[in-house]
Amino acid sequence: MADPHLLTPTPAGLYCPAGDFYIDPVRATPRALITHGHADHARAGHGSVLATRQTLDIMALRYGENFCVTRQIATYGKTMNVNGVEVTFHPAGHVLGSAQICVCDGKKRIVVSGDYKRERDPTCPPFEPIRCDIFISEATFALPVFRHPDSRREVGKLLSSLALFPERAHLVGAYSLGKAQRMMALVREAGWDKPIWIHGAVEKITDYYMREGVDLGEIRKVTAAERPKLAGQIVLCPPSAIQDVWSRKFPDPVAAFASGWMRVRARARQRGVELPLIVSDHADWDDLCATIGETQCSELWVTHGEADALAHWASTIGLRAKPLHLVGYGDEEEAPGDEAAA
Ligand SMILES: [Zn+2]
Ligand SMILES: [Zn+2]
Repeated sequence: MADPHLLTPTPAGLYCPAGDFYIDPVRATPRALITHGHADHARAGHGSVLATRQTLDIMALRYGENFCVTRQIATYGKTMNVNGVEVTFHPAGHVLGSAQICVCDGKKRIVVSGDYKRERDPTCPPFEPIRCDIFISEATFALPVFRHPDSRREVGKLLSSLALFPERAHLVGAYSLGKAQRMMALVREAGWDKPIWIHGAVEKITDYYMREGVDLGEIRKVTAAERPKLAGQIVLCPPSAIQDVWSRKFPDPVAAFASGWMRVRARARQRGVELPLIVSDHADWDDLCATIGETQCSELWVTHGEADALAHWASTIGLRAKPLHLVGYGDEEEAPGDEAAA
């Protein structure tokens, strides 16, 4: 196993004793390196935070300007020295600003990938495989049953439904950071040129993406008075809103939900989703396995999700592998309750 002085799992998260910092800690710590802005990775209350500029901006939008004492910007590909440890951020392809964090002591190189995906996403730079000794991966969809379809096919289903039911509003539940904006961009690529309507909870992050130069076309916030008039329109909202009283004022709404979990029909039914769209910001089984191969790592650590399954697979191809089962990391595609705050 690796030298625990470079990185070691602790109850607060992955800790680097040599550099005295944590990566994505789940508790307030003196020095945190943050992979991306989702709430289970990026928490308020740290002393100093090192992250990409966009992740820092997103944390400030969600938690207020005083989310930490001092901030430091990490630039993709630029190596920094943190208390004698080399630290480099690389794109993770997950959401705007998302990064893998590579730590190196001159001998061993460990890559903490955070959350990541390999499918093309017009709203953020693509994941870059980084050669390393130890690769640390999430395992949200690490079962062979999870093979995400092409997201263009899923967006095609949405546009077909709009063509078929022009008298119905199409409410698309999507996580407010990343997934909602990716859906907007995909819908534009598919040729949809009408305004895209949004729920208030999606507004702040969507505005930020647009300020950062992500082209989403015309976006309009839905007002109460407009709801009954939105037949044949696309409305992006937090997943919780599709079952909310909020949704009832729309003309005969079609409830859609964009998530990797929509592969599981029972989940779609449970949530009252009429139009499941399998669009995920996490790597599926094939992409997890391919990515682990591309890093040429000799050892795999698995943070959360189907950790045992992925670690077992890695051991069958000759890697040393250990499931960490880190506590405190959820899955934003499951649509937890922090939506309203986002
Ligand atoms: Zn995430
Ligand atoms: Zn996560």
